[in-house]
Amino acid sequence: MEVQKLTTDVVIIGGGGAACRAAIEVAENGLDCIMADKGRPGRSGATPCALWSIQAPFGSRGRDERDTPEQFFADMVNGGHFIGDQNIVEIVAFNACDRILDMERYGVHFKKYDDGRFFQTPMPGQTYPRSCFMFENGQHMSTVLAKEVSRHKNIKVMKDFFAYWLLKSKDTVVGIVGIDMINGQTVVINAKNTIVATGGYASMWGFSDNPPTLTGDGIPMAFRVGADIVDLEFNQYYGTDVIWPPSVRGTVLLYELMIDEFADGEIRDKYGVPIIKKPLPIRDEAIKTIFNVIKEGRGTEHGGVLFDITQSPKGVEAARNVFVEMTPKHYQFLIDAAGLDLAKTPIEVAPASHYQCGGIYINEKGESTVQGLYSCGEAAGNFQGANRIAGTALADTQTMGAQTGGCAARDAKKKDLIPVDKKDLNLALDVIKEIMSNKTKKINPAVVKQEILETMDKYIAPFRDEKGMNRGLSVIEDLKSQLSSLYAPDINKYNLDLTEAIETKMMIESAELTFDSALFRKESRGHHNRTDYPQEDNKNWRCHTIVSNKNGKPEYSKRAVIYTRMKPED
Ligand SMILES: Cc1cc2nc3c(=O)[nH]c(=O)nc-3n(C[C@H](O)[C@H](O)[C@H](O)COP(=O)(O)OP(=O)(O)OC[C@H]3O[C@@H](n4cnc5c(N)ncnc54)[C@H](O)[C@@H]3O)c2cc1C
Repeated sequence: MEVQKLTTDVVIIGGGGAACRAAIEVAENGLDCIMADKGRPGRSGATPCALWSIQAPFGSRGRDERDTPEQFFADMVNGGHFIGDQNIVEIVAFNACDRILDMERYGVHFKKYDDGRFFQTPMPGQTYPRSCFMFENGQHMSTVLAKEVSRHKNIKVMKDFFAYWLLKSKDTVVGIVGIDMINGQTVVINAKNTIVATGGYASMWGFSDNPPTLTGDGIPMAFRVGADIVDLEFNQYYGTDVIWPPSVRGTVLLYELMIDEFADGEIRDKYGVPIIKKPLPIRDEAIKTIFNVIKEGRGTEHGGVLFDITQSPKGVEAARNVFVEMTPKHYQFLIDAAGLDLAKTPIEVAPASHYQCGGIYINEKGESTVQGLYSCGEAAGNFQGANRIAGTALADTQTMGAQTGGCAARDAKKKDLIPVDKKDLNLALDVIKEIMSNKTKKINPAVVKQEILETMDKYIAPFRDEKGMNRGLSVIEDLKSQLSSLYAPDINKYNLDLTEAIETKMMIESAELTFDSALFRKESRGHHNRTDYPQEDNKNWRCHTIVSNKNGKPEYSKRAVIYTRMKPED
């Protein structure tokens, strides 16, 4: 098989907020960088789907002079149920303001008060109002970051590039293998350091507000080369995504806008009874209430609850204006695509898979447990803990994105390029050969994917128990046994059958690790609710779940959380 070979200082997989910010930092350290994205930077991943909220403790430069990085830090630690590693939370909390000023310099427009202070809104989990408001949301942020990337001549962007393999030489990661979809070429990128910024895998669940491309490819790639994976049981649900009608299914309706200061609306059961008390609780509390109401039979016809601003004490016009001003596109989209006007009718919403709190285990430099391999953004784990509070994911992409890019670049300056190990490369090429040569038995990857999605929805939604998860796991094992029958034709351009087949294999691996992580943690915390272990058990489980690769097999263990500034009270 013909293989194209490229070399660089740092290769980054991904093209979302974290990858772009990491690439900018590598370039500004004077090194060469390749950013390889299976989509197109500026338009791919979750970042363009995000709303306007990015947390930064601007204090007197924002809305509330009492706010500080220390308070932001404490809010994240508490919101995550004390299992976010504080060495990383510190980087997010103490650098968020500077990184937002970088974004402003790149061209992101933030809403300001007349005197120039940052406009900031309160959100559940924030002691003081801390969410800065980005006009045109994550879409604008993504475009501006992609434009900033393109200004750096030492960043080579490879779009429509599907990475599927991390190359290892002895005990060090030395780059990646991927498929350039544009010409069908298999490409090896040999690098001094590699950063995985592939985002989360909320799209492994059927009801999700993430784009379907977010299948968490970074997790199995990192696991294969021996990187520890952490806390996969904490897949965050968002409480209020539209469930009906199908034309708008999965659209986020901003739960946080129901607070008194904004729309002052209610989430109601099918009888019209409000189900969530004010002040609004943080997300994991809210979704538990919504799920329970649905389970008790008080849900709507299509399995949701009602998002209702029509009876707001502020008057429906004032409540409507909140949505028109804060989330104009979402408001209009519901009207255009489904004839649903929030101001005229309550809308059926339900919890949807939204964000992966776990991921690749990293330290405060973004280093994984394997030499040469870094991770940042939603692909990385161990800093959000068991739950994420609003506006911290985007803050993380910019703070840890810059931190990881900078650390990977400074480290790369000190070392030589290690050549690719031919044996390992051959293993990578075998993956493609096997799928293309398998012409007798054909299984369509899309069919397997659909079964994965259904299995995740059914057995590992926020409420789960051992019996159900074992059942789900056996479905996944059964699907795994069919993987050798996945087939793709040998074509040159946009061989989507091939990438779908590889993606499906990676999804199966991630699903297995997720089920096993959730089975391992025998307590309930944040977004992991075991009906057979309903209590939060701080004595035994205020720790990480670690999956390590022992000779190709996953091994599960506990690891202590890193506390720097705040110790939990018993
Ligand atoms: C609807 C919605 C609303 C949200 N609103 C907010 C908000 O208001 N505030 C907030 O803080 N957070 C919000 N979030 C969360 C936040 O958007 C994400 O956590 C964050 O953008 C993740 O950024 P990232 O760069 O880590 O990953 P992503 O932006 O998801 O990017 C991942 C990148 O990796 C690429 N990739 C994946 N696999 C491969 C592969 N195999 N080969 C090559 N490339 C690959 C993808 O194409 C993509 O470019 C929201 C999320 C959603 C879905």
